[in-house]
Amino acid sequence: MPMSEAFQNRLFPILSSVAGHFGTPFHIYDETGIRETGQMMIAAFSGIKGFREYFAVKALPNPTILGIMKDMGFGFDCSSVAELIISRGTGAGGEDIMFTSNNTSAEEFLSAAGDGGCILNLDDITLIPKVPEMPELICFRYNPGPRCRGNAIIGNPEESKYGITFEQAPDAYRQARERGAKRFGLHTMVVSNELNHAYHIQTARMVLELAEAVTEKTGIEFEFVNMGGGIGIPYRPEEKPFDLFAEGAEITELFRQFKERNSYAPGLYLESGRYMTGPHGVLVTTAINRKNIYRTYIGVDACMSALMRPGMYGAYHHISVPGKDSEPKMCCADVVGALCENNDKFAVQRELPDIADRDILVIHDTGAHGHAMGFNYNGRLRPKELLLRTDGSVSLIRREETVSDYLATLTFAPDTLRIEK
Ligand SMILES: *Cc1c(COP(=O)(O)O)cnc(C)c1O
Repeated sequence: MPMSEAFQNRLFPILSSVAGHFGTPFHIYDETGIRETGQMMIAAFSGIKGFREYFAVKALPNPTILGIMKDMGFGFDCSSVAELIISRGTGAGGEDIMFTSNNTSAEEFLSAAGDGGCILNLDDITLIPKVPEMPELICFRYNPGPRCRGNAIIGNPEESKYGITFEQAPDAYRQARERGAKRFGLHTMVVSNELNHAYHIQTARMVLELAEAVTEKTGIEFEFVNMGGGIGIPYRPEEKPFDLFAEGAEITELFRQFKERNSYAPGLYLESGRYMTGPHGVLVTTAINRKNIYRTYIGVDACMSALMRPGMYGAYHHISVPGKDSEPKMCCADVVGALCENNDKFAVQRELPDIADRDILVIHDTGAHGHAMGFNYNGRLRPKELLLRTDGSVSLIRREETVSDYLATLTFAPDTLRIEK
């Protein structure tokens, strides 16, 4: 089930006023839904001491949204300097932030260490001497390679550029300890948008096995293991929601068994992005054209600059037409943006109500990896972001891009290098 009925009941009655006031297109996020999912997360893992969600900032890097996460006690998973800056802007710092980078630059190490620091998650053993000052708490990202098969979306870990191998792990922790680290964490992420919780149980088992092996070889006790993100959401109406409580119960049991064998247990961190905000956002757009050629095309005022997933992954996003959803459907139409790129389609051969110009379309499940993934190809601009607050008010939390934003990097005289012959 995509966008919940409760969110629809909060949004649809006020939608035309919101669209009238702010103008389309826009993404709008549902504070109530985000908070409910956050509370569920806390409840599902309440049996594990030291559980914490580190919201994956890349899914929805908006300071107002991060403020809600912080209010729920969550930390932030960052992987770039800009994400560190936005997260620190909420007042988060130190162990509220996990910095997981790949192919890390000197600039990123400096930024990670500065301004209150963060938990550094190293991606490779060769990075140990490149860390300017080894922090007290250090983490490594683990890539299980042939020991595990990732799901279809994230692909085969053996071909993935992330992390250290099973064999390298004990040495990595020893070297970090020699450079001064005293506290330790272990990170992995091997699935993405996975609705089957068996995959996540397998990840927990795998990361606990490695923690145990490293403890045995080095005497290090882990403060936490971090399973990354990857919890899926149902984009299609026929898909069932992820069973978070079943996952929580099974993982809690694995931690209990770990403690029995090792006389300690690490805490558990998750870095959910999609699961936290995905279903709690929608893209609202207005139909502006309808053409009939070999197919029927509904042209809307948003394009793939606002939502890349359909064009990039062929992803399905459910579409509602409030006020017309109970009318007979036409079969079928493509819903398209204005880009000079034929994959600029929000829906392909979809059964939809009979859509006319000025109808408002609601594209579901754009709360994660939606606006954030947008781009400016073709000079197309990203839309604004709104927040439907728990008190029923609606705030503009990011304005739309303007042509002068687009031109900002172009307005300088060319800096020309002439090589002397
Ligand atoms: C992308 C990413 C996440 C979030 O993934 P979701 O699928 O949105 O849950 C978490 N951690 C890391 C390291 C990531 O790269």
